[in-house]
Amino acid sequence: MNPLVPAYGTASLADLSASLLAAVGVGGDNPLDLAPAERVLLFLVDGMGAELLRAHPGVAPFLSSMSGGVLTAGFPATTVTSLSTLGTGLPPGGHGMLGYQLAVPGAGYLLNCLRWTAPGPLVEPGAWQPAPTVYERAAAAGVRVSYVGPARFETTGLNRAVYRGVRFVGADEVDDRIAGVRHALAEPRAHVSVYYGDLDSTGHVAGWGSPAWLDQLARVDRMAERLAETLPPGSAMYVTADHGMINVADRVDVDTLPALREGVAMLGGESRARHLYTDPGASAAVLDTWREVLAGKAWVASRQEAVESGWFGPDVRREWLPRIGDVLAVPYTDCAIVASVAEPHEAKFLGCHGSLTPAEQYVPLLETSTR
Ligand SMILES: [Zn+2]
Repeated sequence: MNPLVPAYGTASLADLSASLLAAVGVGGDNPLDLAPAERVLLFLVDGMGAELLRAHPGVAPFLSSMSGGVLTAGFPATTVTSLSTLGTGLPPGGHGMLGYQLAVPGAGYLLNCLRWTAPGPLVEPGAWQPAPTVYERAAAAGVRVSYVGPARFETTGLNRAVYRGVRFVGADEVDDRIAGVRHALAEPRAHVSVYYGDLDSTGHVAGWGSPAWLDQLARVDRMAERLAETLPPGSAMYVTADHGMINVADRVDVDTLPALREGVAMLGGESRARHLYTDPGASAAVLDTWREVLAGKAWVASRQEAVESGWFGPDVRREWLPRIGDVLAVPYTDCAIVASVAEPHEAKFLGCHGSLTPAEQYVPLLETSTR
């Protein structure tokens, strides 16, 4: 099986971001050819992979009735990376949010890029992700840019790294989010994003396709229908996701297999997209060992191989290279590379994402409009 390298430049989340700007008249490329609209609404459903949605049309009749296609999320297929891609319009190699947990070069510890936590001094969000955001560009062009999502996100480091330029509307309940969207769309020109996170968190704990997950999908479907009903004339709504998910059938536990810890100074990323930061001089041996232990389960690549294969985009900015593991381990079977001691909570997840498989990479791009 070959990795599904994201379709950067033609059909990826970065292209959606650029095309949404073009659709509201800010200019620039419109690789997805989105039609012009005075107002665009992006409904971002965390973890709603295209294959997952396609498996349950009866649970999501509204979404299943919408027209659209699919995009690739980007690598790794994880929230921080995809939100950064949407926020900057750049592939991961351009914005530097290259995984869930990344080595802070020279510091000797990992930054959790989602929670913005680290066992040492925290990096400044604007220095870690310095690229201007599409929201700043849209706002400068006279478009009212809003983001409607959980109130607790407003002050996070991730928010400061990727949502610069938005008017943040904190709303925890679906009703409040819909009201926030309605208000935000009551502008002559508007670019509004609204986020829903519980489908992903439920999938992690219960697995996708489980009764709890299906209940969440039904809620998402109703929310999408209600959002569509709030659209004023001259508006377009797009529904997408940051990544999909697989259900774990097999776990390789790095904390019970000493061979896998040998020469590995830090284990970053997450279970479906591991960054291995090796001890000096150990990367070749780590590559060999991991290839042997994970044969038939995961793609194991050196940093250079992953970069040259375009996993992170056509280019990776030189200064971001040390953020990438010396070795990457990316499962293609339903295997999770867990660390039961270092990450006891995540090690129990039933649903995981990050890899270059269709179930994780493909996300829907659905459209409805009042143009
Ligand atoms: Zn997740």
